[in-house]
Amino acid sequence: MRVNWRYINASRNSYAILYAACEREGHILHHVKSPDSDITCYSLNSINESKYRDEIESAQCITIVGGPHASASREEVAGYADYVIVGEGEYTLPRLLSYIGDKNAVMPPGVATKNEYTPAGQCVLLDYYPPFSKMKGYVEISRGCPFRCAYCQTPQIFGHCMHHRSIDTIVSYSSRYRDGRFVTPNAFAYGSDGIRPRFDKVRALLEKLPNNIYFGTFPSEVRPEFICDTSLDLVNDYCRNTRIHFGAQSGSNTVLKMINRGHTVEDVIRAVECCRDHDLIPVVDFIVGLPNETEEDQKATCRLIRWIVRFGTVHAHQFMPLPGTELAGCKTGPVIPDLLHLLGSLSLKGKLTGSWGDPQIRFSR
Ligand code: SF4
Repeated sequence: MRVNWRYINASRNSYAILYAACEREGHILHHVKSPDSDITCYSLNSINESKYRDEIESAQCITIVGGPHASASREEVAGYADYVIVGEGEYTLPRLLSYIGDKNAVMPPGVATKNEYTPAGQCVLLDYYPPFSKMKGYVEISRGCPFRCAYCQTPQIFGHCMHHRSIDTIVSYSSRYRDGRFVTPNAFAYGSDGIRPRFDKVRALLEKLPNNIYFGTFPSEVRPEFICDTSLDLVNDYCRNTRIHFGAQSGSNTVLKMINRGHTVEDVIRAVECCRDHDLIPVVDFIVGLPNETEEDQKATCRLIRWIVRFGTVHAHQFMPLPGTELAGCKTGPVIPDLLHLLGSLSLKGKLTGSWGDPQIRFSR
């Protein structure tokens, strides 16, 4: 039985993780550019799902679809795919492949079809699975998030309980890279419950890693209230990055409350000042067109962005209602001309990146 992985750039880290997990169980995921026999696996987000739907529906092979969109919209995806993996795939996918190869076996929990679905009973232990093997990917150091940002799918897929890969495993896999970069919902929350920092554990990790580490920056970010003298001293002492990437999302406390961000504008200002005081460049995320924002809310965002770009840069992207989130079904709100003009002019000056008119770009980079 040949098993294929439909290569999609946006899901390359999922490929690395699942390649390693399936390899351990004797299944090799062959890289393909179109569906092929016997089985083709996909990982889709809510942006690229529409691009692959027809391909999956008309595929002449067994199709398995996972990823954020499949987890959030399992019934919809089960309408055109044979099997849908809901949530984490490391445990479920190899067992589903074994089940397909031996119909006497029992379909594992965490898989949905048109006719049945049993939820997975537990979350994956990160240390039990390698972050990658032959197909390289970034090392995922933590998973799960205790926050409930109204636009975000992460806690719906990985749960609200933050858990971590052990230091020894992270060190072992990082040594295979010239530059060490990590996947995590919040790098400064390593070792903690995601709410109360454990900088002793972050230090213990960084002390053991080789001197080639980028922490609190691409491909992950941190939360503003975790930015402080202690965390930034750790970056300056042990890491190579000169930038710290974090989310502000709005310059209005009313909007931050509405989207359950769990921090304030004042936290963002303090975080930017702290970066400045530690000679680190803040790179700050904003969401444009959140539902129910008023003109005053967007003017407050303009003021905050203008202030931030004195010390760093901004990354803006357009709000998109994602299935499975609190804001699913909401419409992208209008953006006032002042904010559009500001984003455009900062982009021309090299002070701003992102896409505030086309959410596709955010996901396809
Ligand atoms: S946006 Fe970040 S902090 Fe908020 S729920 Fe998602 S992962 Fe957690």
